[in-house]
Amino acid sequence: MSSWQGRNVTVAGLGVSGLSAARALAGLGAVVTVVDGGDGEAQRARAEELAGTGISVRLGDAETLPDGTDLVVTSPGWKPSSPLFAAAAAAGVDVVGDVEIAWRLRGPDAAPWLAVTGTNGKTTTTRMLASILGAAGLRTAAVGNIGTPIIDVVLDAEPYDVLAVELSSYQLHWAPSLRAHSAAVLNLAPDHLDWHGSMEAYAADKGRIYEGNQIACVYNVDAVDKPSTQDLVREADVEEGCRAIGFTLNAPAPSQLGVVDGILVDRAFVPDRQKQAQELAEISDVRPPAPHNIANALAAAALARAYGVPATAVRDGLRAFSPDAHRIEHVADVDGVAYIDDSKATNTHAAQASLASYESIVWIAGGLAKGATFDDLVADAAARLKGVVLIGADRALIREALVRHAPQVPVVDLDRTDTGAMSEAVRQAARLAGPGDTVLMAPACASMDMFTNYNKRGDAFAAAVRELGASA
Ligand code: ADP
Repeated sequence: MSSWQGRNVTVAGLGVSGLSAARALAGLGAVVTVVDGGDGEAQRARAEELAGTGISVRLGDAETLPDGTDLVVTSPGWKPSSPLFAAAAAAGVDVVGDVEIAWRLRGPDAAPWLAVTGTNGKTTTTRMLASILGAAGLRTAAVGNIGTPIIDVVLDAEPYDVLAVELSSYQLHWAPSLRAHSAAVLNLAPDHLDWHGSMEAYAADKGRIYEGNQIACVYNVDAVDKPSTQDLVREADVEEGCRAIGFTLNAPAPSQLGVVDGILVDRAFVPDRQKQAQELAEISDVRPPAPHNIANALAAAALARAYGVPATAVRDGLRAFSPDAHRIEHVADVDGVAYIDDSKATNTHAAQASLASYESIVWIAGGLAKGATFDDLVADAAARLKGVVLIGADRALIREALVRHAPQVPVVDLDRTDTGAMSEAVRQAARLAGPGDTVLMAPACASMDMFTNYNKRGDAFAAAVRELGASA
């Protein structure tokens, strides 16, 4: 009999991970209730999907704990301060996330986990890693925060050799017993501070990914802001023999991967006596070859090498990889101006990376700031800004930073948060731009004040650029 038989589990949230957890645990005999604070069409449609499964759904009340609950399985987005969790704590009931459930169900029996987190670059790096593992002939999948719920994969009948697992800070917060084969924290910059409460708490949740690592803790040598990813490695309690492996855009020291004369090289996973660094790939094998993305490629390579993948597979896997939509995506050239969709730049750290990739920029920015400040970003980019178009709920924060650090730059402040605002923003940006310039939509903010998600924001931008092209 499964140990889940008859357990009363409350699942918080009717999203993708909530539905996956609910179905899996009900399948193992648990008595499952899904609760969701919403009671709109979307929630009702999802609840409908569960008809006939034996899973109960309670809509419109996200605060009270259903009677008899033994365990709460939360969706990653629910804040630790949610009243439901206070009710769980008062009743002595544990709260965990879907990643913890996946680990408890199969742990490493399904396959070893190569885990990736960081403020930015998680999805790109996880997909690069899966591509490299695939090129090595390994049976693998890119799972977790990337979209495919990890519970579904560990329960999959299809066997895997190794998994490339993207983990968000939220998922790590709710996954106390996870122990990866190897893990990487790509970078660490303020984000989601409204959820975690402080930078320290955010960093501590990210750092959880290193706990119990068996083979390698991969950190970013070049990111020295405190706490650094190396600090997180130092604080982690790992298995004996687990190594700290750095990656850098410069020439690597021993135990690091880095770049020498345009070649990605490995000085960590080479035989002791071998003085030469092992060549992995050329910078031109990485798409796009922007500095932040080369860092992603090195981190992916480090995890793959920790698993024993040969250098040739790193090169083949990187060559076979193509970036996802809305990540520094070239949409079109109109009248000599390049239009770039980096809608996925939902925080200042990501926007900083893309603003650093161009010279004369008309920047479309704004949305939900999530507690961020914009002074450093604006001061850093000021010399490259030709103009700025602001949209969205928290645009005043960016406008104030522009006044402080780039007073000479013309700013169009669109006092709009409706979805049509993107067309207007693109028209205004086109007015400010001239041949050779780049219009860069890298908003440094989340999209949910105006759009369902960053994909929809990027699609709206692309549609507006096409409209502009048609009328040019
Ligand atoms: P995540 O899954 O962490 O959100 P993505 O790979 O989807 O990361 O990229 C998110 C955004 O961050 C994109 O705008 C991308 O251009 C930018 N980005 C990707 N990698 C990095 C990096 N290593 N450092 C800074 N920004 C990055």
